[in-house]
Amino acid sequence: MPPETPLQVYWSPDFLEHRVSPGHPESAARLEAIIAGLRAAGLWDQVPRIDAPAVALERLQLIHPAGYVARLQAAIDRGARVVDSADTEVSAGSFQAALKMAGAGMQAVDDVLGGKTTAGFVLGRPPGHHALPDLAMGFCLLANLALAARHAQTAHGLERIAVIDWDVHHGNGTQAAFYNSAAVQFISLHEYPLYPGTGAADESGSGAGLGFTCNIPLAAGAGDERYLQLLEGPVTDILTGYRPDMIFISAGFDAHAADPLGHMQISSAGFAAMTRQIKQLAGELCHGRIVSFLEGGYNLDALAESVVAHVAELAHRANTA
Ligand SMILES: [Zn+2]
Repeated sequence: MPPETPLQVYWSPDFLEHRVSPGHPESAARLEAIIAGLRAAGLWDQVPRIDAPAVALERLQLIHPAGYVARLQAAIDRGARVVDSADTEVSAGSFQAALKMAGAGMQAVDDVLGGKTTAGFVLGRPPGHHALPDLAMGFCLLANLALAARHAQTAHGLERIAVIDWDVHHGNGTQAAFYNSAAVQFISLHEYPLYPGTGAADESGSGAGLGFTCNIPLAAGAGDERYLQLLEGPVTDILTGYRPDMIFISAGFDAHAADPLGHMQISSAGFAAMTRQIKQLAGELCHGRIVSFLEGGYNLDALAESVVAHVAELAHRANTA
């Protein structure tokens, strides 16, 4: 039986309570702009919205040592303004927001594999793809996507998970979580060199994971055509050979032409076409199963327009194989 709906969005107002200082690019205004865009497009009411549950603290140990989680919580409880890195700010509401981001991803996995929805989009913050098991960095506190992938493996027995990270920055945290594992095929398209400095083409995994990390570093200036060529060519070839049970997307929108932190040239229509391509692949390879996580994207207008395009494609039933 096909799932009841093509897409569910995972959301909580608590994501707005992760506060940063004025001028910080990763602000609650990002989510407010996206929601306004989704409302204007009719998608906020049209796409079923699930209240993100907070993850149980023990489940974080799928990726993060208990000592790291305790350190993070204690820092936030005592009123710290940053954790581990000067760019990674926190406020009183940050721990709960982070727990709900992690919980949202796991709930999306449960709902997709339980047949409630074909795809899930985690619409929240703080983002996660830079978070290392024991270090907050790059605006990220918990490794949201990596946690959901480990949840899919441990709670549902998934054997092969593909991750496509198209955020303009390299997904060093996700890469680190699965560098030694063949159970996750990690593919990252990113501007290089750029923060965080990792993601060279010769970083390709180690041990049993050798060959299951694929970095595609790109010079500044790449746009729709280049990204689509890569998705339709090498990325499709890798995924077709790997035969994933599910595809995760680290959906950052900071490779948009208007983004202040990246130097790429993707348009909002380009993000729609990229989403279509991955959706088609998911339809052919894994019953359309996709869980997508909001990562970066810092020009509010470009971000809103791009997320609307991404959500509209994922919600479009006719494309669901
Ligand atoms: Zn980014």
